[in-house]
Amino acid sequence: MDIVILLGAPGSGKGTIAARLASEDAKLKHVSSGDLLRGAVAKGTPAGLEAKGYMEKGQLVPDALIATMIGDVIAETKGDVTMLLDGFPRNVAQAEVLERAGAPIRSVVLVDVPDAVIADRIAGRRTCPKCKAGYHVKALPPKVEGICDKCGAELVIRKDDNPETVKDRLVVYHRETEPLVAFYEAKGLLRRIDGDQGPERNAAAFREAM
Ligand code: ADP
Ligand code: ZN
Repeated sequence: MDIVILLGAPGSGKGTIAARLASEDAKLKHVSSGDLLRGAVAKGTPAGLEAKGYMEKGQLVPDALIATMIGDVIAETKGDVTMLLDGFPRNVAQAEVLERAGAPIRSVVLVDVPDAVIADRIAGRRTCPKCKAGYHVKALPPKVEGICDKCGAELVIRKDDNPETVKDRLVVYHRETEPLVAFYEAKGLLRRIDGDQGPERNAAAFREAM
């Protein structure tokens, strides 16, 4: 088992890239911290109840809460698998947790997208609440409007995808997460891809870089 970390702003498309690559290659396992947390919120677990308020405000949940969830997934992932770790770490403290745990990081790929593009992307984002597939009304529309191609469920707009909360999430990204670029660059692990090339080419560029 080894790990490829996806770094990028909310709306950079890292989740779409990871899901696409994992669907094409059984050796790639997509692990999304946001999906794990939304799952816990939906189930009403203690961790979910604690995380809910932070998520709705666009703030980071406490490090220990998400680090425990990710640690569990890493511990149960074995064999000839590469984990595409999406949304964790999101600050230097979380990166240090991974390091202390001796997690085998192969590379860290920054999905680079200008802030201006991001606001537009998130505004058009639609999500399947059942299978977690992601869509965009213009860039990646489902075959039938409002319906998931993969499972037929009705698509939703995530609660934290409203313009005000998106602004806060971008502030948090620049303050908390962007320092990880220098952190991993110093370790010689960082690669960058242009995340503004369309879903297909973004995924291909990522695959080559990782
Ligand atoms: P996006 O990448 O579009 O912001 P995510 O689905 O990755 O969306 O995350 C949604 C929310 O979940 C974040 O705004 C945050 O509240 C919480 N979250 C996800 N990952 C982490 C993390 N590693 N540390 C703290 N909070 C997290
Ligand atoms: Zn679906």
